[in-house]
Amino acid sequence: MQWTDLKARLLSSGSVSLSGEPADQFIARSSAGPGAGGSGAVFFAMGSHRVKLALDPLNRIEIVHRGNGVADLCYDGTLTRGRLLRPGFHCPDQAFITVTGSCIFSCRFCTVPRLGGRRKTIEEIMGMVESVRQRIGAISITSGVLESIEEEESYVLELVKRLRVYDLPIGVSIYPTDQTPDRLRALGVAEVKFNLEAATPALFATMCPGLDYDRLWRVMDRSVELFGKGRVFSNVLIGLGETDMEMEACISRLTSHGIIPVLRPLNPVEGLAGFSRPSAERLKTIFIMHEQALAAAGLDPREARTMCTNCTGCDLVPGRD
Ligand code: SF4
Repeated sequence: MQWTDLKARLLSSGSVSLSGEPADQFIARSSAGPGAGGSGAVFFAMGSHRVKLALDPLNRIEIVHRGNGVADLCYDGTLTRGRLLRPGFHCPDQAFITVTGSCIFSCRFCTVPRLGGRRKTIEEIMGMVESVRQRIGAISITSGVLESIEEEESYVLELVKRLRVYDLPIGVSIYPTDQTPDRLRALGVAEVKFNLEAATPALFATMCPGLDYDRLWRVMDRSVELFGKGRVFSNVLIGLGETDMEMEACISRLTSHGIIPVLRPLNPVEGLAGFSRPSAERLKTIFIMHEQALAAAGLDPREARTMCTNCTGCDLVPGRD
């Protein structure tokens, strides 16, 4: 089976069971992305390709760890040899850190408000980065909102000032104020991600009460002026009720503005009862739209230095998958 096909099917499932040799060092436990708050997730790699899958002991798709990271993926009666990747923080090759693990907003698809985590101190984050320094090539920062959007931004700016000591590319994805792009750029941040989340304004209004869709566009456009084409990213979830045409229009609007869409299969959490993960067929259809729109706009995800487009664990990424 071709990698794109296999990854689409695995992403549609979203999880695997894990057996074989002890694999604790390969299990990512984090407060964002697949597996957040659960029993963790693993990165399964084949050559330069990878996929991140939450662990679910009941899933019939199985990864058997043979030892030292060597692993077999058992899917639909076939065995695919690959390896498990050791996460830095949250993902391989990066320290991708969630600063504040709680949020005053309650986007219906997001696990952060439900996890009710705390804010990490700056010293704690410096220690986390230090502990993986020798095996990462980037630092990525995301956050919930503890008190207010403005207060969260100030805290993240303080943190970024300290992280510059590592001389690694820094990517930041927070809910922005109108000044966030200028302030991050002034600190030397390499890339930014501001998440549109939903393919249409109507879906955004239902899914993200209290957040401002128009501000996200203003901030993304300003970011492209400051950071350059292809250095600005935006997550859009696949499966919130949008049609393929609406998704295609959203992708084209983003790419025509110089922004790389990060198209993420929905992981239905408790606020989304009745929703399901998108099918592998739909993921492949949208992958082709994505590929064409990026090519037409001259955007290349292979150049991403930080965050999800560099990682590729959770999405089909044109040029990488
Ligand atoms: S693709 Fe993004 S959310 Fe998924 S593991 Fe990688 S960095 Fe985390």
